[in-house]
Amino acid sequence: TDFGYKQVPEADKEKLVHGVFSSVASSYDVMNDAMSMGIHRIWKRHMINKLDCGMRASSGEPLQFLDVAGGTGDIAFGLLDHAKEKYGDTQSKMIVADINADMLKEGERRSKKTVYADSPRIKFMVQNGEKLDAIPDNSIDVYTVAFGIRNFTDKQAGLNSAYRVLKPGGIFACLEFSKVQDPVLDYFYQIYSFSCLPMMGQFIANDRESYQYLVESIRKHPDQETFANMIRKAGFYVPGKGYENLTFGVAAIHVGVKL
Ligand code: SAM
Repeated sequence: TDFGYKQVPEADKEKLVHGVFSSVASSYDVMNDAMSMGIHRIWKRHMINKLDCGMRASSGEPLQFLDVAGGTGDIAFGLLDHAKEKYGDTQSKMIVADINADMLKEGERRSKKTVYADSPRIKFMVQNGEKLDAIPDNSIDVYTVAFGIRNFTDKQAGLNSAYRVLKPGGIFACLEFSKVQDPVLDYFYQIYSFSCLPMMGQFIANDRESYQYLVESIRKHPDQETFANMIRKAGFYVPGKGYENLTFGVAAIHVGVKL
């Protein structure tokens, strides 16, 4: 069932995505919390721990991270913190790329309150994740994207670009809303997302449309298996089944390795 939902024509999508994130950049945390009932913070922490990145003592080679659709910088700061706390790595570098300058500004504003304030280790770049024009081939060790790729107009192009910019041996990791696996749970989840969320959007942000768009983008995002196959199609080696479900599949982490 589509719960009577209106589709957004593909041609209007980029404009709409821009509008959605510009209009919510400041109330962004509230939206994320509403969407996931606060659980997105735990998912992000889990992805960071799972990746376990950081320059190892034996290596001496700092890592180059790229967080695409990085917006507010949650993942970027989290990865750098993990590298420092666990491996004493204070050299690895981060590029935060996002298509929306307002979201990046929010990320930069937040970085001022962290130890990375004005650090040459973090660069914020306006970039379309589908192309990553300014990022050279084979230049990135770890590519992350959290709750971003479902907004791409051409997701396969995004995955292909991820493959292009990663070094051989580099890792791709994507945290994204996914498909709830149990049909009964999924039924209740659908009711929550199609009825409650837009209503909450109306009350919290006075912006029903943006929330409605977000719900639709989740519904249209490929399921776990299909997405794993798209990652394979981009050229990645996908270990095991290629993903880990979080909270019954409300979200999933997909990984791929560029061999
Ligand atoms: N990764 C952050 C997080 O998890 O808190 C932000 C996620 S936010 C829901 C989605 C972000 O994707 C927005 O900042 C939006 O501007 C960005 N975005 C949408 N389409 C994009 C594209 N084609 N290329 C790069 N970023 C994009």
